[in-house]
Amino acid sequence: MPIYEYKCNDCDNEFEELVFSQDELPPCPKCQSKKVEKLMSACAVQTEGSGGGMPDFGPMPSAGCGSGGGG
Ligand SMILES: [Zn+2]
Repeated sequence: MPIYEYKCNDCDNEFEELVFSQDELPPCPKCQSKKVEKLMSACAVQTEGSGGGMPDFGPMPSAGCGSGGGG
């Protein structure tokens, strides 16, 4: 089953949610905030120089991983 890991930007709560649509983000089960971000393994690992076979994650959200976001 497609279970993804999310992190709430309001209470820094990390939770896993079973989702079918990658376009919608589930609300935080702790504070019901919609300001959650999806945690992807691709972001955790650092790319070693040149890119190779990128995983097919589909359409990436505007606010991807990288330097701190604005808000
Ligand atoms: Zn929260």
